[in-house]
Amino acid sequence: MKIGVAYYPEHWPEDRWPTDARMMKEMGIDVVRVGEFAWSRLEPRRDQYDMLWLERAIQILAGEGLEVILGTPTAEPPPWLFDRHPQIVPVDEDGRRWFPGSRRDACLNNTAYRRYVRRIVREVARVFGPNRDVVAWQIDNEIGCHPAGRCYCDDCEQAFREWLKMRYGTIERLNKLWGTAFWSQDFADWQFVPAPRRTPAGVHPSLALDYQRFITATAREFIQEQRELIEQYCPTEPTITTNALAFWTDQLNQFSIAGALDVAAFDNYPIAGPNPDGAAIGLDLTRSLKRAPFWVLEQQAGPTAIPCSHSRPRPGELRLWTYQAAARGADLIAYFRWRTAPAGQEMHWYGILDPDAQPSAYFEELKATFAELKEHAPLWQGRLPKADVALVLDYDSHWALRANSMTAELDLRAQFTTLHGLLRRMGITADILTPEQSPAGYAAAIVPMPMIVRDQAARQWQSYVEGGGRLLVTAPAGYRTEQNAWVATRPPAALSGLLGVQVAAHDVFNGDEGPSIAMDGTEFPVKGFCCLLELMGAEAVGAYGEGSHAAIPAVTRAAAGQGSAWFLGAVSTDALYGHVLERVLAEAGLRRSPWSSDTIEVIPLQAGQAQPPRTFVLNHGGAAVMLPLAEGETRTDALTGRRHTSAVVLAAYGVALLDK
Ligand SMILES: [Zn+2]
Repeated sequence: MKIGVAYYPEHWPEDRWPTDARMMKEMGIDVVRVGEFAWSRLEPRRDQYDMLWLERAIQILAGEGLEVILGTPTAEPPPWLFDRHPQIVPVDEDGRRWFPGSRRDACLNNTAYRRYVRRIVREVARVFGPNRDVVAWQIDNEIGCHPAGRCYCDDCEQAFREWLKMRYGTIERLNKLWGTAFWSQDFADWQFVPAPRRTPAGVHPSLALDYQRFITATAREFIQEQRELIEQYCPTEPTITTNALAFWTDQLNQFSIAGALDVAAFDNYPIAGPNPDGAAIGLDLTRSLKRAPFWVLEQQAGPTAIPCSHSRPRPGELRLWTYQAAARGADLIAYFRWRTAPAGQEMHWYGILDPDAQPSAYFEELKATFAELKEHAPLWQGRLPKADVALVLDYDSHWALRANSMTAELDLRAQFTTLHGLLRRMGITADILTPEQSPAGYAAAIVPMPMIVRDQAARQWQSYVEGGGRLLVTAPAGYRTEQNAWVATRPPAALSGLLGVQVAAHDVFNGDEGPSIAMDGTEFPVKGFCCLLELMGAEAVGAYGEGSHAAIPAVTRAAAGQGSAWFLGAVSTDALYGHVLERVLAEAGLRRSPWSSDTIEVIPLQAGQAQPPRTFVLNHGGAAVMLPLAEGETRTDALTGRRHTSAVVLAAYGVALLDK
């Protein structure tokens, strides 16, 4: 377990740097992240590089025994570059160009920007590649953040056409697969394919989906190019990452991005207050990208500000959030930031030191946290959470639905978040998988809204179920082709055999106009969308109540081999999702933790022969809790050595690492 911090030496006079480095070391920090956003200091004028100040800063940090993660500074070009090439600023879907002066305001496909990116990255790599104090590289910063990440400029349009050529080969094939006969959109040549800018009646859904894929492909290629430059100048294989946003953004397929990285990383701001779910889903996704320990490159170190203003963390919350990240698989946690910025857009995102260089109100809590983490990390080091459920996230399906939906109620990302939160509140940890990854080995697999079902995924889920897996699929499923056109057979198409149903029709509703679903003696409301299912071998376990859809199956279960495949044919509330989950998980032999709740987080760790069972229990509430034990049961907290009988007592914002 390593502790890190973001440091921007360019923000303070050089004679301050030794003090900062010494204080970092004394505080227990191991790694310092520098260099991101320093382009205007590293290349103050075109072709005039100044790397010396950064070399001196790294030398001072290294002199205290601190390691360095070096960021490439490409997330914000210097003003002279905007002056020389105003066209590098992205364009929105209305054709309006953004303005420079913040960050992420350069188009990744702009040829001039990319030329200058190669120059500055080559120069940084040339100088620092051989520097042994630089232990890892962070490419750019938070790629995919801010709306300007979706650019519609002429360079993007041209690059999109090239990307389409690679994907489709001929324009005729694109026309056929997209279905461009609709509304007179047959393209006679690649040069007529537009970026999906604002139109009077929406964008062609095939175009919209492919453009979103193209944005991910652009970001990955941008990372890959920097990666190759860095590798050229490092005498040994460098460790390369980027600080990604996990579930904070849906602009990029994070699995694809992680394919170009050595280690997945996440910027973790659990600013949601007493609800641990927002951070939990980001941490779980980041761990799942490589199914390996990961890094948190920015961990909240104090209050934040616009656009994420929330009340000040309560005493104990920063410690708690640190443990949450460690429990969910982080083995390097770097705080943002060492000292509050003296100026600029983020001057109210507070650091470990206040703007006046005095220790912040959280300094002592963080220092103590670092010390205890280092002392206790061997208790869980190398052990990821024990994930019993595979939660399948298909970015293509999410984007397909967003590009063209039956109703606004259909939001894959929102339902995914709900399902993850429900599992979390049951104390059941989920790994997040792509549809291409087999859920074999997980007791249950949940696939929310797979609009696009590839044959390979359908076959994989079939054999998973036949081998004893419990699968839950939610509607809508199997509507679209890879190109976001209608499939040739009735939904859920490739899943019909496994789920034992066909969708005869679907219906949409405003507000509370929808029917109810009767299941196990309880009525649940439909929210906006429901499928009318025909049984093709499945049994109905829930059906619509009174009204024109009365008695039509809404929730089904089909047995196959050793397992079962469930289909939830409507959008509903947490109550129905929770109820169906309970039934599926019960079949899978999974039980809800008796302690887990909105504010109590329970995270069992993987156990093995040489690894005794251990479970993290975190109290995100502001009051102490007593978690009851069975008669005669005892649990020992490995962090304190305290033996609990009759109940585990957790202080407000408290943490325990229990045996079992
Ligand atoms: Zn662009």
